[in-house]
Amino acid sequence: MRTELMPVTAASIALAASLMKEGELVAFPTETVYGLGADALNGKAVLGIFAAKGRPADNPLIAHICDKADLAPLVTWVDARTRALMDAFWPGPLTLVLPRSRAVPNEVCAGLSTVAVRMPSHPAARMLIRELGKPIAAPSANRSGKPSPTTAQHVYEDMNGRIPLILDGGPCGVGVESTVLDLTGETPVLLRPGGVTAEMLREYLPRLRVHNAVLHPLASGQEARSPGMKYKHYAPQAAVTIVRGTPQQIAARYDASVAAGKKTAILCAGAAPYGERRTFALGSDAGEMASRLFAALRAMDEEGIEVAFAEETPTEGMGLALTNRLLRAAGFCVEEG
Ligand code: AMP
Ligand code: MG
Repeated sequence: MRTELMPVTAASIALAASLMKEGELVAFPTETVYGLGADALNGKAVLGIFAAKGRPADNPLIAHICDKADLAPLVTWVDARTRALMDAFWPGPLTLVLPRSRAVPNEVCAGLSTVAVRMPSHPAARMLIRELGKPIAAPSANRSGKPSPTTAQHVYEDMNGRIPLILDGGPCGVGVESTVLDLTGETPVLLRPGGVTAEMLREYLPRLRVHNAVLHPLASGQEARSPGMKYKHYAPQAAVTIVRGTPQQIAARYDASVAAGKKTAILCAGAAPYGERRTFALGSDAGEMASRLFAALRAMDEEGIEVAFAEETPTEGMGLALTNRLLRAAGFCVEEG
């Protein structure tokens, strides 16, 4: 299959919607990462997403809507707490997990009794959903196990020959996947941190609990509340170690690795303390660092980096999403300097 890359225009949106009406897949930009979309009400089309990504069949997708009123048909209830969250954070990078209605095909939810729904703020995503006239089921548009794509070029690297169309809307603003919030129980649970932070949610949900798997590996036998938790995500080719120590200690680890003949890099906030060493500097604050992390992981792979040392990152605000993704890239390998 030939894969077209097209800038977002009225014509390319119309083409994308007509392809999706025929059951095809289209990759499209959102404010979080690029999504790989299918008509969410077409179970067979949705199955195509799993095939194109090489995604495990038990890892459900997110249904994307363009109007708050589109939530009700997909779920069995919308209570006052849910409405307050929608009013505060939609459109935006917050995914709500709620009990699903019968309108949602099994394929979207991977057989779960709940459905994850989000209303993106990216204009191209909203135009596409509106033009299709139905929710779009979409996970991130990467091959399973690769970092999520934050540019159309990343999508092309992973999906060339597998899907007919990629809409190019430039780099994604947030750069990490949406916050996933489980509202099905009495205590709301943050399953995945993202652009809507735990602090922002706590203003509405004082009892919010952050799931243990956000910062810790799932214990063997522990149930994954979000199926995505149990898969190895965002893993570059390089063995990544998060070093709890000073820049001098990180530099020493780097030098020892280079002396051992390994192609080595440092993942850091700013390049300043590391001199001539190969660094991937992510930025000056956690939000900027999160938005650049996935591109840096892909660039490390392209360069053939075998070993990487990462500075420890904060866990407040956007730091929680950054640290969550970095921990996964490192396979939870954290060492003292
Ligand atoms: P992606 O956007 O590629 O990260 O994929 C969607 C994410 O949402 C995955 O991590 C899923 O595990 C999670 N997800 C989707 N539906 C549900 C659900 N019903 N309950 C919990 N997590 C979900
Ligand atoms: Mg994904």
